[in-house]
Amino acid sequence: MRETTGATGEGTRAVRAGLPEPVKNEPTLPGPVFAAHFHLPGDVEGPYTYGRDENPTWTLLERAVGELEAPGQDDVQTLVFASGMAAISSVLFSQLRAGDTVVMPDDGYQALPLVHEQLRAYGIQVRTAPTGGDAQRAVLEGARLLWIETPSNPGLDVCDIRRLVEAAHARGALVAVDNTLATPLGQRPLELGADFSVASGTKQLTGHGDVLLGYVCGRDAQAMTAVRRWRKLVGAIPGPMEAWLAHRSIATLQLRVERQSANALAVAEALRDWPEEFAVRYPGLPADPSYKIASQQMRRFGCVVSFTLPTRARAEHFLDALRLVDDATSFGGVRSTAERRGRWGGDAVPDGFVRFSAGAEDTEDLVADVRRALRESAD
Ligand SMILES: *Cc1c(COP(=O)(O)O)cnc(C)c1O
Repeated sequence: MRETTGATGEGTRAVRAGLPEPVKNEPTLPGPVFAAHFHLPGDVEGPYTYGRDENPTWTLLERAVGELEAPGQDDVQTLVFASGMAAISSVLFSQLRAGDTVVMPDDGYQALPLVHEQLRAYGIQVRTAPTGGDAQRAVLEGARLLWIETPSNPGLDVCDIRRLVEAAHARGALVAVDNTLATPLGQRPLELGADFSVASGTKQLTGHGDVLLGYVCGRDAQAMTAVRRWRKLVGAIPGPMEAWLAHRSIATLQLRVERQSANALAVAEALRDWPEEFAVRYPGLPADPSYKIASQQMRRFGCVVSFTLPTRARAEHFLDALRLVDDATSFGGVRSTAERRGRWGGDAVPDGFVRFSAGAEDTEDLVADVRRALRESAD
C-alpha cells in the first residue's frame, strides 16, 4: 500500500484511501473481484481461500475505512459487513456471554430494542440510559461492555466519549461507539479511547442511497479475532460489488461531508429563525444542548437536523410540499431526505417530529425549498 496517511489532509486522504500500489496497465482502484472460491492447490494458505472469509475487494475497502477512522494507527483492524446491523451484532454477540452486563443507550437506533431482546434471551443483562448528560456513566458498575451512539439517532444528543471511556475502562469494560451519524470525518472514536468504532456504511459513508454496508474498527487483536469469527459464522458479508461501490464513494466523502454539514447548518438556522417554535436540534447550533461537547470531540456536526412541527398533519403537509427533499427513511445521501419519524412507531418522539437529512444540493435552493414548504404547510 502506498503511504498516504502522513502529511496529507482529509480530502487528500479520502480520495486516495485504500488504493494499492500503482501497477502499470492496471486501474487505480481495481474492480470488484467476484469469487466464491480462489485457486488453492496443496496446503491451505491465505489470504484468499474461500469467499466467506476474505475477498481482495474487501481488503482494499477495509484499508480505506481504517485510514479514515484511525489514520497512522497500524494496530487498528477493520472488518466490513453486509450492513450496519451485521456489524453491530457482530461486536455485541462476539464479546458478550451469558451472565455479562452491557450498557446501551435507550435513545439509539430504532433496531436496538430488538437487539436488547435477543441479548436478554441469551442471558445477557441489558441496562439502558439516555445519551444526553453522559447518563450511561451512572449505570456502568459491573458492565463488560458500554455501547455509545453519539450523536444519537434521531434525537441528536451527544455524550462525552472520552469521559465515558475513562469511566468504563476504570471498571474493566470495553467501549464501542456507533459512528454512523458522524462518519470518520466527523469524529474518530478510537482516538478518543474507544475500543471499537462501529458504523453503518449505508448512510453518509457511501452517501448515494444504493448500498447497504457496515464496518467494525478495533485495536484489540483478540477482540477483533472474535468479531472476524462471528462474521464467518453468520456469513454477514458484503457482496464484492457493494464493497467496490462503497470504496468508490469514499473518494468523495470529504466533499460530501463538507457540503452536507454546511447545508444542515443552514437548514437548522432557517428553522431556528422561523417565527414558530420547532424545537430544532442540530449539534452545530451554538445554542443546542449538544454543542459544547460536540464542538470538542467532533470535527463536523453531521448532515442530520431534527425538529418538531406542531402536529402530525402539519408534518405530513410539510413533507409533501418539499420539492427537493424526498420523503424517505435513512440519511446521509447526496439527495436530501426527510421523514416523520413517528410513522415507524419505534422511536419515542412526538407526532410532528421530522428527521431531516441535508444532501449536497446548492444551499440557497435547499433552504428556499424548506422555507416554502413551511409556509405552504401552515395554510
Ligand atoms: C442505519 C443505522 C444503523 C443500521 O445500519 P444498516 O446498514 O441499516 O443495517 C445502525 N446505527 C445507526 C446509528 C444507524 O443510523
